[in-house]
Amino acid sequence: MTPAAIAGSVLGPIAAGGAFVYYACSVPTSQVLGEALVRGPAGRPEVALTFDDGPAEPFTGQVLDILRRYRVPATFFCCGKNVARLPDLVRRADAEGHTVGNHTWSHPLLYFKGRPAIEAELDRTQEAIQKVTGRAPVVFRPPYGVRWLGLFPALRARGLADVQWSDTGYDWKPRLDGAAIARLVLAKLRPGAVILLHDGREPREPGNVDASSTVAALPSIIEGARRAGLEFTRVESFLPGAV
Ligand SMILES: [Zn+2]
Repeated sequence: MTPAAIAGSVLGPIAAGGAFVYYACSVPTSQVLGEALVRGPAGRPEVALTFDDGPAEPFTGQVLDILRRYRVPATFFCCGKNVARLPDLVRRADAEGHTVGNHTWSHPLLYFKGRPAIEAELDRTQEAIQKVTGRAPVVFRPPYGVRWLGLFPALRARGLADVQWSDTGYDWKPRLDGAAIARLVLAKLRPGAVILLHDGREPREPGNVDASSTVAALPSIIEGARRAGLEFTRVESFLPGAV
């Protein structure tokens, strides 16, 4: 064997192993580490809007205003740190019929985190949300969609379902305006879609968050989905066994 072939025979499996770990933990649709909701049933003309990283002023309130105007339910995956800072917005989302989910306390990447650290992120957020709404969340979305080894047992112990997504408007990219975000969401939208959008930007300091393009996109997304014959539901109605 040539040195290059020897290197290839050693490094090939390592690279393949690395690619597999990347797929298992990082690809939003992966089911390797545990069962994840990626999309709902294709046989129902329903899609679910989900908003991550909030609450944030003034964007969460603006999103809630639009949802109320169109009578659309949604799911908000909140960071506990933001819930503690802006509890009134979470109380309003809950009171107006939306689902409040757990998106960790501080929005860390879960790679290489031990189970105690993962549990602390989950529990602090469960408690912060329960204090505001009176109920512990039943849905969880990991930051950046990344799952790690201790996560699924910790979720199961808390009755939390992992919710990923099937569609996104890439609204965290700074150069996309509302029209572009709406186009991206609507381009491939079909029954069962779980749509990822953001009403905040992680637990950043107030003033460093700009979700205005998401707010601008929202009416077009709702109207476009309805023109395509789709209605909106809260994401937990897509979970196995849900009615
Ligand atoms: Zn996030």
